[in-house]
Amino acid sequence: MKKVLKNFFIVVFVILMMASFISLYTENGQKAETVTINKLAEEINDNQIKKVIVEGGDIDIVLKDEKRQKTKKENSESIFSTLKNLGVSPEKIRQTNIVIKDESSNMMWMNIFASFVLPFLIIGLFIYFMMRQVQGMNQKAMIFGKTKAKETKNKGEKVTFKDIAGIKEAKEELFEVVDFLKDSKKFTDMGAKIPKGVLLLGPPGVGKTLLAKAVAGEAGVPFFHISGSEFVEMFVGVGASRVRDLFGKAKKNAPAILFIDEIDAVGRRRGAGLGGSHDEREQTLNQILVEMDGFESHTNVIVLAATNRPDVLDPALLRPGRFDRRVMLDLPDINDREAILKIHARKKPLAKGLSLREIAERTPGFSGADLENLLNEAAILAVKRKKKKIEKIDILDSVEKVMLGPARKSHILNKKEKKITAYHEAGHALVAKMLPNTDPVHKVSIVSRGQAAGYTLKLPREDRVFSTREKFIEELSVLLAGHIVEKIEFGDVTTGASNDLRQATRLARRLVTEFGMAEHLPLRTYGEHEEMIFLGRDIHEQRDYSEKTAEKIDQEVDSLIVNAQKRAEKIIKDNKDKLDKIAALLLEQETIEREEFNKLFK
Ligand code: ADP
Ligand code: MG
Ligand code: ZN
Repeated sequence: MKKVLKNFFIVVFVILMMASFISLYTENGQKAETVTINKLAEEINDNQIKKVIVEGGDIDIVLKDEKRQKTKKENSESIFSTLKNLGVSPEKIRQTNIVIKDESSNMMWMNIFASFVLPFLIIGLFIYFMMRQVQGMNQKAMIFGKTKAKETKNKGEKVTFKDIAGIKEAKEELFEVVDFLKDSKKFTDMGAKIPKGVLLLGPPGVGKTLLAKAVAGEAGVPFFHISGSEFVEMFVGVGASRVRDLFGKAKKNAPAILFIDEIDAVGRRRGAGLGGSHDEREQTLNQILVEMDGFESHTNVIVLAATNRPDVLDPALLRPGRFDRRVMLDLPDINDREAILKIHARKKPLAKGLSLREIAERTPGFSGADLENLLNEAAILAVKRKKKKIEKIDILDSVEKVMLGPARKSHILNKKEKKITAYHEAGHALVAKMLPNTDPVHKVSIVSRGQAAGYTLKLPREDRVFSTREKFIEELSVLLAGHIVEKIEFGDVTTGASNDLRQATRLARRLVTEFGMAEHLPLRTYGEHEEMIFLGRDIHEQRDYSEKTAEKIDQEVDSLIVNAQKRAEKIIKDNKDKLDKIAALLLEQETIEREEFNKLFK
């Protein structure tokens, strides 16, 4: 809106400039009195005139006393007949010094300009600005159907497979792709068919985009890169024509790699939407499918695509002949984490004796991107602390920042709130400590971070893929412990525990409906998790069970929660002295590290 106003003012300004220019030109800076033509006739009769200058219809009069006047006559009639008609005798006219000037050519052009060209110019300018406006709003509406696919030339810092740690299988798979593009004959002679599409799947930050870039770096073939969201535009049909353009470019440059990042933006299950943008998505997706089917067997173009939502992809994308190869990228395990840390620590000065292995141990569940972020935060912290090198403590302090968001030092609790928070967190920590299967407590703190007023940081002893029912149930007790302690200790509860309750409820529900861990229900899942976009919102569950079963599910969820609650209550009552100790220590120093925490239980 601001831009419209600005442009409007520019146009107005230009018009004003022109108008003042023209008027300046016409007036010539003289201060002449305007008189009637009759007055001129009178003056001639009275012999007052020195000179009369006629220029078209304009008459400039110079009187004998050097005064200036001006008047007008009809353009079509000559000055002489005009004067004669007004009763000036031919004698007098002859005596008067009358100069007839051609209408100056400048003036004529000015007239033509003002009456003819100027309006067009103004309209033209107006349209031009309007266009620019439209362009700005729709991101270059004028070059609609062209892709913004960037061909990545190998300039600047090149990413190669060496820059990627872990994700071994994915690397191998893509190495094959590179190999294939470099020397396809080797494979075709063997009768092997070229893969058309490779789909990279994995949670955010595990290195999908990085891997694709590395393929470009390794392959030495043209590499076209576009993000799925770039297809989705305001105008229906733009996406499809972009796809056509992109595939056309790639084919022309074959052998080539075409990388569609975040394909879930266009590749969602079709037929689940309302409104324009969804039709647009469908058309775009259809076009991708058509293009991929249209590859002849000898077309040396391989399509890479990446997504972190394989569950929402349209099944048509996964049919043979399209993205028939799927590569899973997992979160890194401890060895991979160490290797990733090593890669990102290359340009950072680390203190002597700092063991990246130890950092890797402390960061289960971190993705590659998290680890990169961790080291970056640590470096920033080290600078803040005026150190020459990054020390272990800097990295460990950054772990929480990456996990929970920055500490909110300004978020000051009053005395009562502080006490409640201390007991609340002490409750979580105590119950976690006393139950055998939960993850060990690494840190308890009442420094608020992100949303939470305080936090209890538990980290698993080792990476694990599965979780057991027993562990989940203990987890429920830990989640409820904060709430329970508040009730026991203060006889009242605060709003601070609502997030715990939500988490606990969700976990209990998943145990029953997804993991088959309910006690009195048959081994099955309840509810189909169907991804649909409806009016911009995901609708999650499709019920595939009866009203009666729904009741049973609720009962199961309730009983899980009630049991967990009882268990936590018992632990808290039996260990009241420990609880008080933890809370007191928390109030005193705000954070308790693992060693100190464990000492309280000796
Ligand atoms: P994704 O596309 O899977 O969401 P990215 O490829 O954008 O993730 O990864 C983000 C960043 O995280 C990368 O630029 C890289 O610095 C780092 N990273 C992720 N995985 C790895 C890895 N396996 N090895 C090295 N760095 C990694
Ligand atoms: Mg990515
Ligand atoms: Zn809590």
